[in-house]
Amino acid sequence: MTIYPENLSIAFTHKELCTRSGTCIGVCPTQALSLDKNRYPQLNAELCINCGLCRKVCPGSDVSYKTLTELTFGQQNGTIDFDGHVEKTYVGYAADPRFRKGGAGGGVITALAWHLLKTGQVDGCIVTRMQPERPWEGEVYIARTYNELKHSQQSKYTIIPVNTIFQELQHVDGSFALIALPCQIHGFRKLQREKSKLAAKIKIVIGLFCASSLEPYIADEMLEVKGIHKNDIKDFNFRGGEWPGRIRAILKNGGIKNMHYSNFKDGAINYLMYLYSPHRCQICIDGSSEFADISVSDAWTRDAKGNYIFRSQSRLLARTPLAIDIMESAIAADDLCAHDVSLDPHYKTHKLHARKKGRTAYIRVNRLRRNGHPVPVYDRMIDEHDITRSERRTEKIESLLMRLGRIRAIRLPLFALLTSRYGIPFVKMRQLRKRKKYRS
Ligand SMILES: Cc1cc2nc3c(=O)[nH]c(=O)nc-3n(C[C@H](O)[C@H](O)[C@H](O)COP(=O)(O)OP(=O)(O)OC[C@H]3O[C@@H](n4cnc5c(N)ncnc54)[C@H](O)[C@@H]3O)c2cc1C
Repeated sequence: MTIYPENLSIAFTHKELCTRSGTCIGVCPTQALSLDKNRYPQLNAELCINCGLCRKVCPGSDVSYKTLTELTFGQQNGTIDFDGHVEKTYVGYAADPRFRKGGAGGGVITALAWHLLKTGQVDGCIVTRMQPERPWEGEVYIARTYNELKHSQQSKYTIIPVNTIFQELQHVDGSFALIALPCQIHGFRKLQREKSKLAAKIKIVIGLFCASSLEPYIADEMLEVKGIHKNDIKDFNFRGGEWPGRIRAILKNGGIKNMHYSNFKDGAINYLMYLYSPHRCQICIDGSSEFADISVSDAWTRDAKGNYIFRSQSRLLARTPLAIDIMESAIAADDLCAHDVSLDPHYKTHKLHARKKGRTAYIRVNRLRRNGHPVPVYDRMIDEHDITRSERRTEKIESLLMRLGRIRAIRLPLFALLTSRYGIPFVKMRQLRKRKKYRS
């Protein structure tokens, strides 16, 4: 059979636009698609029947906010705010101290997932973990018990094609919660249109805020640079230990090796973005999971002195009536400690975060398009005249750094420098800049 690449997901015509959400693999009716080493789909042409379904659900190239809005909210809400449509904003943390302590932020996602399972509102939660046998790689799975959920805690800042789980979901009954990143949610919403019976198994979508994922080889390379043998580790954390956590390897002999100086937020992670951010993440305009029922972000809000106000807490945006019901039921059942902060001006910092990602990506998309490169098609635009010179300059500098980061011979020594004690001045410089920003 002749396979027409234009019938396949975007990875087969413009690999650089593939989000690696795994949606194409999840829906393929003949299992002709599987994951390659770097989490892109690969094709077994003998199994492919050219049905074109993988192209239709692909979130890589065609990102119509109009369609995604209709599929999520059943109507046009017309927002152009990068926080998306929000009904209510909460801040809070998991009531269960084990969820709170082990979470990336306040452990609220795991608390909500447990509440949904415990009360029988779902039969399973689609979550992620570092692989037990290969802890430097992430994987998706369905958690059905408290203990299974515990393994899903924390952010894994590495690409995990969550939507591959739809292969498994086709063969199980019940209703499920999907916990996912923005691009994965775009893929799921498209699947809702193409395979409504399968998509109907998802009762609620909980989305994570996302500045960028990182390349799947990041943990591997960190271990290499730090001289740690992969076979000597039993776990790898991106936000391990005391909030806001640190990137660290947990050794089989019980030892813990920190991968960088300072904590997660004020340390090397900010530079890692430049070294490991995938190209497709750099041209994604959705930083707040706009098409989730509930979106969760870290509550990084600081006071005038630059100190965090909500340590070990998360912010939750309830976008749909279903989300408000679930939030209120989790609060009433004492699974979640959260309160309404919809009118609290402190939350402007989060709006800025999603806005920065969205606007920078727009500027980049437009520049790349003008230079003849393939880019995603967005139907939500910003006014070109509204873009400042400083925004354009920042985009250019960041793009240059990220291009350099793609070269292994530059990336590894830079990474080694930034995370060694010689990197401390860079981290301190950043902390100082942040403090000044919050004082002004
Ligand atoms: C790649 C990435 C980028 C992020 N960027 C930002 C950001 O810029 N700003 C911000 O405020 N917050 C960001 N977050 C979200 C933030 O780090 C926390 O995950 C979020 O606040 C939830 O915290 P929690 O304690 O409630 O979650 P927990 O209770 O610790 O649960 C975490 C949940 O996230 C899921 N998860 C973890 N990693 C992945 C992954 N790679 N793909 C899909 N699902 C995953 C887990 O399965 C688990 O269900 C990002 C998260 C990721 C994974």
